[in-house]
Amino acid sequence: MRFLNEFRDPGLATRLIRDIRRMATRRWTLMEVCGGQTHSLLRHGVDAELNDVIEMIHGPGCPVCVTRSDAIDWLAQLCQLPPVLVTSFGDMLRVPGDRDCLLNARAAGGQVRAVYSPLDAVRIAQETPDLQVVFFAVGFETTAPATALAALQAERLGLENFSLLVEHVRVLPAMEMLAAATDCRVDGFLAAGHVCTVTGFEAYADFASRFRRPTVVTGFEPVDLLWGILHCVRQLEAGQSEVVNAYTRAVQITGNRAARDLLDRVYEVVDKEWRGLGTVPGGGLGLREPYRRFCARRRFTQTLLPSAVPPVATELPIHRPNRCRAGDVLVGRLKPTACPEFATACRPESPLGAPMVSDEGACAAYFRYSSSHATHEPG
Ligand code: SF4
Repeated sequence: MRFLNEFRDPGLATRLIRDIRRMATRRWTLMEVCGGQTHSLLRHGVDAELNDVIEMIHGPGCPVCVTRSDAIDWLAQLCQLPPVLVTSFGDMLRVPGDRDCLLNARAAGGQVRAVYSPLDAVRIAQETPDLQVVFFAVGFETTAPATALAALQAERLGLENFSLLVEHVRVLPAMEMLAAATDCRVDGFLAAGHVCTVTGFEAYADFASRFRRPTVVTGFEPVDLLWGILHCVRQLEAGQSEVVNAYTRAVQITGNRAARDLLDRVYEVVDKEWRGLGTVPGGGLGLREPYRRFCARRRFTQTLLPSAVPPVATELPIHRPNRCRAGDVLVGRLKPTACPEFATACRPESPLGAPMVSDEGACAAYFRYSSSHATHEPG
């Protein structure tokens, strides 16, 4: 298959591994930002193959994993109110909040439905005017344009029974927070290629020079990842810190203009709570006027059922009710296999934390592909 087989070519991968080994004069520490990249690294054995010259640290780029837990708890309560139907991407349903997950809320009688697109939620609202349909909008800049389209569509249809809980997050501010930390061990970053298809990578040039970290826009196939690592190592060995696009078949420097215009039209940049990182300045998107009328928080805390729905807390609780170390995993301080609960109390069928639930979660990747728990042969 074109654009796939050539990026899984074993011969090319072997040559790239040889080049990386030749080039590296010491062991470098790199972070792949996106959870999809983490899964590909482990699935294809790239991290193990290079482990003596490259330490891969897995970044926070799993949107399901970093979504604040109190938002899940809030929706789990909201869906118990008869006129409300909470809609969400399916992988959010099993993600634990601090108190509950949406799947349990549904089992307890709440109205929760998985949808493939926010536009499905708009259609449900249009077809069932007696329901208040709330869409749980999570994800990076990759999914935010579809949510923006849903807001525009709801406005065009004049829907009064559709709203959004917007928890979209922005990747670059989180990378800045990680790079600015005094204990940051990352020498170079593999930036999330799919995010850059929307945002472009102009802003990454400033990031690379300001934090003196080479940054390579990287794709998701094994050859993509090896190209990204090679470009990083080449710069590190030369003492350079620039941005390089190693995902040229998908990413242009200015990104997707239409999608960026959509983001600018519907959202404003806001500070955002990331699970594991805390409050990230500029790390999220919120609805701007006139689309704030579709904000679920505003609708359900100020107009409809004001006393029945608890407000979303502004701070995450300090003491976690379970033993999940997701916060440490998400910032690369802890390998999933070093978590005491990994593959014992915490497994995909009984997850204690979001990284074991999500298809992009690092704990799920280790469970699926590490040798003692592999459910899928590396290929
Ligand atoms: S293995 Fe489970 S408990 Fe441990 S950090 Fe990952 S999700 Fe949390």
